[in-house]
Amino acid sequence: MTATKGYAVHNATDHLAPFDFERREPNPHDVQFEILYCGVCHSDIHQVRNEWQNSIYPMVPGHEIVGRVTKVGSEVTKFKEGDLAGVGCLVDSCQECSNCKKGLEQYCKNGSVGTYNGYEKDGKTVTYGGYSKQIVVREEFVVKVSDKLPLEAVAPLLCAGITTYSPLRHWKIGEGHKVAVVGLGGLGHMAVKFAVAFGAEVTMLSTSPSKQEDARRLGAHKFALTKDPEQMKQLTGYFDFIIDTVSAPHDYNAYLSLLDTDGAMVCVGAPPTPAEILVFSLLGNRRTLAGSAIGGIPETQEMLDYCAEHNITSDVEVIDMAYINEAYERMLKNDVKYRFVIDMATL
Ligand code: NAP
Ligand code: ZN
Repeated sequence: MTATKGYAVHNATDHLAPFDFERREPNPHDVQFEILYCGVCHSDIHQVRNEWQNSIYPMVPGHEIVGRVTKVGSEVTKFKEGDLAGVGCLVDSCQECSNCKKGLEQYCKNGSVGTYNGYEKDGKTVTYGGYSKQIVVREEFVVKVSDKLPLEAVAPLLCAGITTYSPLRHWKIGEGHKVAVVGLGGLGHMAVKFAVAFGAEVTMLSTSPSKQEDARRLGAHKFALTKDPEQMKQLTGYFDFIIDTVSAPHDYNAYLSLLDTDGAMVCVGAPPTPAEILVFSLLGNRRTLAGSAIGGIPETQEMLDYCAEHNITSDVEVIDMAYINEAYERMLKNDVKYRFVIDMATL
C-alpha cells in the first residue's frame, strides 16, 4: 500500500479538508499515476452533500483526472512510466456483459465502479477519487492523453466533455440541426463547443444574462434568456435537439415545448429531486425525452483524440486545493467560467 494525500469530507455538512489514506500497489493489470490536475464537477457537490442519497464517507471526490504514469503492472501493455494518462468517472466494470462488450461500460449490467463514492469489485473497498496525489486504476479504464493540449484544460473533458460528446454523437447531431444547450456551466460550455464543431446551429438557453457574450465567444450562434417568457415563446417548436445540463430542479416542460416534430431533449444534468412532466409536452410534435450518462471508455478515447485533433479544450479557472470549498460556493451561485480545475501541485 502507498500512503496518499487527498482532500475528503466525513459527512454531508462537512467542508473538504486534508485526508491521508492508502492506495493499493499496482496489480499486474494496473496503472499508477501521479495526478497533476483534477476538474471540479457539480456531481462532486451533489455527492459530497449526499444530495443523491447514496454517499459513502469519508469521500475523496474527483473524476476528471489527468496525470503522468509513475508505475505499471507487469501485464500492462498500453502505458509505460512517464506517459500522460487520464481517468474519468469509471474505474471498473464486469467487461463481460453485452453493454461492456459494446464499450458501454457506464451501463454495465453487473454494475460499473465509480471513480469515487463506490465500492470496488470486492464489494468492500471504497473508491477514492482525484482530489488526491496519485491513483491506481486497471489499464482498461485509463485513457491516453495527448501532449498537444494544455493538461489543465484537458482534465474536464474526462467528465464534462464525454457527457456532452456522447449524446451529441448518439443522436447524430451535425449540419442542418438546430440545437439548444440549457445551462452554461461545465457541461454546458462543452456541449456548445462540440455541437458547434459538429456543424449544428447552436442556441444557448441560460438564466444568466451576463453569460451572453461568453456564449457567443464559445461559438453559440444565438442566446435566449429562459427567464424571459417572450424570448422563450419565440422559440416554440424551433429545435431538433436540446441538451439539458441544469444541476438544480427546474421545469422540463418549458424546454420540451421548444422541440420541433420528432425532436429529442436529452437530460444530462442530474438534479436530486423528481420533476413533473406533463405528458402533453411530449404528445405534441411526437417529442422524445431521454437521458444519458457519461460515456464508455472507447468513446472517451475517441472524444479525447477528437479534441486533440480539433484543438478543443475546456475553459478553466485553475485553483489551489485549499480553495475548493470556496469554489463549490461559487459553483452554486453559477459563478464559474467554466470549470474549476485543481492544480494538484498545491496539495
Ligand atoms: P455547473 O457547472 O454548476 O453548471 C450548471 C448550470 O446550470 C449553471 O451554470 C446554470 O447555467 C444552470 N442552472 C443552475 N441552476 C439552475 C436553475 N435553477 N434553473 C436553470 N438553470 C440553472 O454544473 P456541471 O458540472 O455542468 O453539472 C451539471 C449537472 O450535470 C449536474 O447536475 C451534474 O451532477 C450533472 N452531471 C451529469 C452527468 C451524466 O453522466 N449525466 C455527468 C456529469 C455531470 P446558467 O447560468 O446558464 O443558467
Ligand atoms: Zn462529473
